[in-house]
Amino acid sequence: MRTRLWNMGVSAWKEGVKVKSVEHGHLQHKDTIARDVCIIGGGATGTFSAIGLRDRGKSMAIIEQKDRLGGHTLTYQDPTTGGKTKAGLVVIRPSTISQEYFARFNIPLTKFNPPPPPPPPPMPDSTLYVDFSTGKKVNFTPSDPSQAFAAYGEQLEKYPFLDNGFDLPDPIPADLLLPFGDFVKKYNLSAMVMLVSKLGQGLGDLLYQPTLYVIKKFGATALEGFAKGFLVPANGDNSELYVKALAELDDDVLLSSCVLSTRRERDSVKVLVKTPTGQKIIETKTLLVTVPPKLDNLQGFDLDAKETSLFVQFSNSIPNNHCLINVAVDARENLPDLPGIYEITPTGVPNLVNLKYGSPVSMLEKLVERDVMDSLARLRKAGTVYTTPPEIALFSSHTPFELTVPVSAIKNGFYKELNELHGHRNTYYTGSAFQAHDVSLLWEFTDTILDKIMGR
Ligand SMILES: Cc1cc2nc3c(=O)[nH]c(=O)nc-3n(C[C@H](O)[C@H](O)[C@H](O)COP(=O)(O)OP(=O)(O)OC[C@H]3O[C@@H](n4cnc5c(N)ncnc54)[C@H](O)[C@@H]3O)c2cc1C
Repeated sequence: MRTRLWNMGVSAWKEGVKVKSVEHGHLQHKDTIARDVCIIGGGATGTFSAIGLRDRGKSMAIIEQKDRLGGHTLTYQDPTTGGKTKAGLVVIRPSTISQEYFARFNIPLTKFNPPPPPPPPPMPDSTLYVDFSTGKKVNFTPSDPSQAFAAYGEQLEKYPFLDNGFDLPDPIPADLLLPFGDFVKKYNLSAMVMLVSKLGQGLGDLLYQPTLYVIKKFGATALEGFAKGFLVPANGDNSELYVKALAELDDDVLLSSCVLSTRRERDSVKVLVKTPTGQKIIETKTLLVTVPPKLDNLQGFDLDAKETSLFVQFSNSIPNNHCLINVAVDARENLPDLPGIYEITPTGVPNLVNLKYGSPVSMLEKLVERDVMDSLARLRKAGTVYTTPPEIALFSSHTPFELTVPVSAIKNGFYKELNELHGHRNTYYTGSAFQAHDVSLLWEFTDTILDKIMGR
């Protein structure tokens, strides 16, 4: 049987319907929906917001471009064996908010067992270090990261404010603006770079990213997670939360839908939406944007100069039973060049592996697939693994993933101005661009935004 690959794109191409701004006006009364809040995006924070607002007695509608809720949370079911595997979010860091959220849907959580890979050295025998540019195995032994982690932990203690959005002090500590490679050198952290690279997938060229973004992705709460362990649903199905939320929210969710235009006035907001059953207008008091706020993702929104000048600055730089880790032995910190494969890991489902690929620029799906197939052909030619050509079971793009702005913008108060957007023109924001890629932290942050909305 052929090996199948899924979950290939961390940064590849943009899914979704692209539309130009369209005027409201010609729709009938029956096409108008009145809600307290209109939520754009039905992923981790959008779904959490909808449930949170419902529990607080507010009405809402979610507009989601895909045909399901969950965003980066996705479960793949192998059609042959019925085996399920997580194609996206894997673990949840224990926190009161995440435990209460799962309990609300009667979904028992259990400790993630075994702990997330890679464990401290020695790595399991089944782990191969491979240079994907040649396809050959390399003689590589990862360093023990314990001391580096202790030194990193000391540095993190200086930045407790990073757990809560981007509420940065003025001036911003210079170390946070250093390229991560220089931060590693300054504090002698080389031994942990491979592990951070594995957990920081989607960050693009790790060593060149401002340290601020690396700490946001792999910070004190992540270290705490490693110390205390992570949680997963006991039945292994991360998507169940979203299936149950969809059943409860029912008609309040507009799936396979996109915003054609928004009109935000002093006391009201109107959102014109394209849905599979025709256009609808949502009349609301408040807009809650949970999607990555890049200009190309906000087409049709009536952005003003302040919003446009901030959002234009975001870019997403990226973002059998063996575990294959791409290693460039001669490169700085042994990290391979991107675009390229990060790693190939087993899924537990026979003949199904998980391959993660990253690129500092957006790539067409076809190009990602070709590059992956070329890399795997090199592995075969070198006799490393995969004797028959694999086929792709599922390609899932997670772009745009990590939204960053240049160091000069961070220094000039970008995040202060971004935070001031909450409430500006009846609009609030949540999602990873405003917090971090950790759903527990995101749900805590979103809860504070819902409180702000309730206080209006
Ligand atoms: C491969 C992978 C593994 C991960 N593993 C973990 C993990 O183990 N633990 C953890 O805590 N975090 C993990 N993360 C990070 C976590 O999934 C994200 O931080 C989280 O999903 C972000 O939530 P969000 O609401 O901001 O975005 P999302 O969950 O991505 O939701 C955004 C939603 O908006 C929709 N959307 C986008 N644009 C539009 C538009 N214009 N109109 C309408 N809808 C739109 C999208 O389709 C999506 O459903 C992982 C991420 C990836 C990619």
